[in-house]
Amino acid sequence: MNIEELRDKILKQDRRALARGITLVESARADHRTQAAELLEALRGEGKQALRVGLSGTPGVGKSTFIESFGMMLTAQGKRVAVLAVDPSSTRSGGSILGDKTRMERLSRDRNAFIRPSPSQSHLGGVARRSREAVALCEAAGFDVVLIETVGVGQSETVVAEMSDLFLLLLAPAGGDELQGVKRGIMEMADIILVNKADGDLKPAAMRTCADYAGALRLLRKRPQDPVGFPKAMTVSAVEENGLDTAWDEMTALTDWRRENGHWERRRAQQAQFWFHEEVKQGLLARLQQGDVQEALAALEGRVAAGEVTPSSAADKVLSILDVSAH
Ligand code: GDP
Repeated sequence: MNIEELRDKILKQDRRALARGITLVESARADHRTQAAELLEALRGEGKQALRVGLSGTPGVGKSTFIESFGMMLTAQGKRVAVLAVDPSSTRSGGSILGDKTRMERLSRDRNAFIRPSPSQSHLGGVARRSREAVALCEAAGFDVVLIETVGVGQSETVVAEMSDLFLLLLAPAGGDELQGVKRGIMEMADIILVNKADGDLKPAAMRTCADYAGALRLLRKRPQDPVGFPKAMTVSAVEENGLDTAWDEMTALTDWRRENGHWERRRAQQAQFWFHEEVKQGLLARLQQGDVQEALAALEGRVAAGEVTPSSAADKVLSILDVSAH
């Protein structure tokens, strides 16, 4: 594949080239990894900055309904919207496929929208780094908004937050009076909590849930990247398409403030550093899986168990053969 040609086509907003580029970054093949790195390097600093929006919520809260309605609203305003997914489930069994086009039928037919399902990968680290690279490709392809959907138990939210400018948490109205078991760590990541399904019979419960979360958010430690009033909770109805414009206005107000106050750039710079460290870790882990290292580990395990060598000197022996730069 000619990387220069692919680069030019992506910059010209060619959707097929974008899809090919994403397939390339998702591939685990060593030659593809090399080409992907070349492509990403060639696109670095090109294109404009998209607004990267992370969106999380448990299955059934209405993520796909929300993305469809919200995405359609944005494309109607002339914006180009990409939807990507970070799926932490290793098997997919039982769970819904995130970013699945059949869950967003209208949006998937929209010329100004691009939907890409989560790559099928067995571990979150691999999925996450590739999704981050897919975000970069969508940005180079001139999308105004990149929505990154996830569902999870904390870990996937963390990696999505690390590739997003804004993080939205979607909730459904609570039946009881607990805070739906949302972990504090996830709440702390949220810039805006959207309580969905604020329609029909569910509306009063949605309002209550929203008030509960607004209260809980006020108790969180103040973050430097938040203007007065943020993080905030609000109600929406993805089905009735209510509150979506207000949600967008709030997102815009928040990002404008962050841009003006240097937080936007700082966050992106910190994220780049985070992914740099992450890539180093992933590279080391991959190296550990290779045959010679596995053999050395296997050979030393028995000797460590038998007390013939101390754990630390055995580890030194293995580390001395890593020479990661050669791989
Ligand atoms: P996901 O698993 O988070 O993607 O959730 P879905 O978008 O598939 O929605 C799950 C269910 O909630 C579906 O039956 C939707 O029709 C319903 N739903 C989604 N949004 C709303 C909403 O705004 N109001 C109501 N009443 N139902 C909704």
